[in-house]
Amino acid sequence: MTRRRNVKIIATLGPASDKPETIRKLFDAGADVFRLNMSHLDHKNLKRLHDAVRQVEREVERPIGILADLQGPKLRIGEMKEGGVTLEKGARFRLDTSKKTGDASRVHLPHPAIFDAVSAGQTLLLDDGKIRLTVKGKGRDHIDTEVAVGGKLTSRKGVSLPETVLPLTALTEKDRGDLDAALELGVDWIALSFVQRPDDVAEVRKIARGRAAVLAKIEKPQALEHLDEIIEISDAIMVARGDLGVELPLEQVPGWQKRLTRAARRAGKPVVVATQMLESMISSPTPTRAEVSDVATAVFEGADAIMLSAESAAGQFPVEAVSMMDRVAQSVESDPTYPGIIYAQRNEPEATGADAISAAAHSVADTLNAAAIVCWTNSGSTGLRAARERPLFPIIVLTPIQATARRLALVWGLHCVLTEDAQDLEDLSDRACRIAYREGFAQPGKRIVVTAGVPLGTPGATNMLRVAFVGRQEKQD
Ligand code: PGA
Ligand code: MN
Repeated sequence: MTRRRNVKIIATLGPASDKPETIRKLFDAGADVFRLNMSHLDHKNLKRLHDAVRQVEREVERPIGILADLQGPKLRIGEMKEGGVTLEKGARFRLDTSKKTGDASRVHLPHPAIFDAVSAGQTLLLDDGKIRLTVKGKGRDHIDTEVAVGGKLTSRKGVSLPETVLPLTALTEKDRGDLDAALELGVDWIALSFVQRPDDVAEVRKIARGRAAVLAKIEKPQALEHLDEIIEISDAIMVARGDLGVELPLEQVPGWQKRLTRAARRAGKPVVVATQMLESMISSPTPTRAEVSDVATAVFEGADAIMLSAESAAGQFPVEAVSMMDRVAQSVESDPTYPGIIYAQRNEPEATGADAISAAAHSVADTLNAAAIVCWTNSGSTGLRAARERPLFPIIVLTPIQATARRLALVWGLHCVLTEDAQDLEDLSDRACRIAYREGFAQPGKRIVVTAGVPLGTPGATNMLRVAFVGRQEKQD
């Protein structure tokens, strides 16, 4: 299976998409990475979904990324009664410590710290700010509120207190348990929610010890103040527009989306644009024009990946949502304005061998109108630097390491193929030609540009560029 698209698609799995057949359909429709949202999964279901994705990966024989998203210190209400309840403006609503299922009068709030921190008159937002409550009074085990803006409330929706200072750590006890379980299974990416400081990311890195790459979700104004350091210490970032749009004035989110995307591209770190991208497709088979335009904006900006949340996890049209994203992305990427917009944000190579070779490969591919750029890499870092160039040629990454291939499934433009290390220089370019042909990127008679580190298998030593000719013999392979 060969995709003709640079931007990658992340699909969140959930009740609407937890069957192996559905996961297969999501992959076929265009999903490159699957997100397992720990806010909604116990360890049994984490394992079940993880195993189901790996099963699909074996079937399709393509590396698939799995991203486990830690809940972080996200405040959420407890269970609501089946189907949820509509809160009416002006009604009283209580949040308390009882674990009983919630109804129109009350719900469980499993965060006792809030009861201390909140005071009368402050605002309490539910479900990404859709429901607005005003605090009227409180006791040791409850908060009484009045509904200022009503709406339908379902189980485990997020709670934000933009006016309250809360004592929170980035990695909760639950997160530590989830992190261990996810690492144990062998997920490829760990996403950390509500990052505020570079240290938050450092803590996860220390536990992960290279077993998974770490993605920082940018959804707190505090993180924006330390953006460069957070990008530096993270393997990727996410523009988590849901919570960012609750914590910041909504109108500031698009500007920040551009700034975050550009900062990550400059650093050569993948950036994911997330949340409400095709929101109306939760209950409608077609999106709004504005949603299509929003997806297109992220693709034009050169984001590495675009993400579906409830659309694929809990909506009525999970497969249609992926397929719609795929169509919008392909259409944007073949639009005549796309190359100019992508190149306008191109970053100069840094003074390293890998960047010099990546830039040279891009330029040689341009001059020769090559069929593809092929990078041999072990750690994946050369793949990242090749993608940072944003060349409008297919980039094929050849690696003997499965974890590398899976991680890079998230990265702009990279088509990863698992293959053992090359024996020698001839094997290195012959194999590159055969794979470029076999994967449908290069026809006989075309040239490809191959990069590698010689001696082979030495980490961080990309130092070689070769032009190879795809000959007829490739056809027999
Ligand atoms: P969430 O993160 O879906 O875990 O809340 C994404 C966001 O806040 O946009
Ligand atoms: Mn969030």
